[in-house]
Amino acid sequence: MRTHALNNPVTGAPETNLLDLDRRAMESFFESIGYQAFHGRNVLKWLHKHGVTDFDAMTDISKNLRQLLADITVPALPEIVFEQPSRDGTRKWIIELADGQRVETVYIPDGNRSTLCVSSQVGCALDCSFCSTAQQGFNRNLSVSEIIGQVWLATRELERPLTNVVLMGMGEPLANFDAVVAAMSLMQDDLAYGLSKYRVTLSTSGIVPALRQLREVSDVSLAVSLHATSNELRDELVPINRKYPLEELIPACRDFIRDDKRRKITWEYVMLDGVNDSVAHAKALIRLLEGVPSKVNLIPFNPFPGSGFNSSPLERIEDFRQRLMKAGVMAITRKTRGDDIDAACGQLVGQVRDRSKRRSRQILHTVRGGQT
Ligand code: SAH
Repeated sequence: MRTHALNNPVTGAPETNLLDLDRRAMESFFESIGYQAFHGRNVLKWLHKHGVTDFDAMTDISKNLRQLLADITVPALPEIVFEQPSRDGTRKWIIELADGQRVETVYIPDGNRSTLCVSSQVGCALDCSFCSTAQQGFNRNLSVSEIIGQVWLATRELERPLTNVVLMGMGEPLANFDAVVAAMSLMQDDLAYGLSKYRVTLSTSGIVPALRQLREVSDVSLAVSLHATSNELRDELVPINRKYPLEELIPACRDFIRDDKRRKITWEYVMLDGVNDSVAHAKALIRLLEGVPSKVNLIPFNPFPGSGFNSSPLERIEDFRQRLMKAGVMAITRKTRGDDIDAACGQLVGQVRDRSKRRSRQILHTVRGGQT
């Protein structure tokens, strides 16, 4: 047993968590300890593709290197402390980080798809008025290992491979830019999770400069939380709009997909009764998206205590959807999944009643009728 960490013998840097490193960082790290980059790629594959974190089990690596890695690195992962299955097959995991903070990760099976909804921050600073994560406030950014760790853990828990990852959990991914970009590059890396650019989707409320920068360093798919067609209303619902209004956001989104004719922006539009769901709003949305290859996801509002909003009735959502479709704007109504376990959009808050007793893993089964 090692009692204290050793430093990198060459750079003198303190112990490295190998799960914080994407391919490029892994290669540089191995070079920094006097080994060739391909060893780094090999370790990356063991960690992510095979899910092996025990250096002794990495059988094609020399004993010396294994010993060195054990001395100067850790493969540290967050931990699932609580799992809640939903009646519809959705599973919500509460993930505890090394400092005791908690985030949520949601698994959503749907036909051939198996999608993981990943968090990027503890809490969120953006204060969208209809989102319960916002009420929790902002705590901190997640590290690369805490983001990719959610994918690592889910891959080991599930009987079937993940087909999609969406950064739509807690937090604003573009406000945690570097860690999110590195984690997404691992999601896409053939030595790790091997998902195509069409199957990794970042959802943002619209931090325009970061969105423009993202295009330079990543080719993932983009979803944008729109929710309103005028600055006046969007300023209220998604306050970051006061800084980056629609006339800056929409062109940045158009540019994001400019070079790929197969791409569309997914617009998320939460349907709020009497707020953004009228015929006039539908018409304004059609006008706003003119010339932008688009897919609109209409999301029935998921209520939470004290929100002050109600979901639009289903008939109004369907009427809204039909209007978009007739105008040639592809639109679907997103199924509300996992709402019996508060795992639906905007309901992720890390609600754990008794935090003290949850050191060991527990599985809570949803009792039909709502109580857990
Ligand atoms: N901050 C990013 C990532 C969070 S994604 C973003 O804003 O896109 C979460 C998605 O769920 C967003 O589209 C968000 O607007 C939506 N959402 C939040 N609260 C909701 C609620 N109560 N009901 C339905 N959708 C909600």
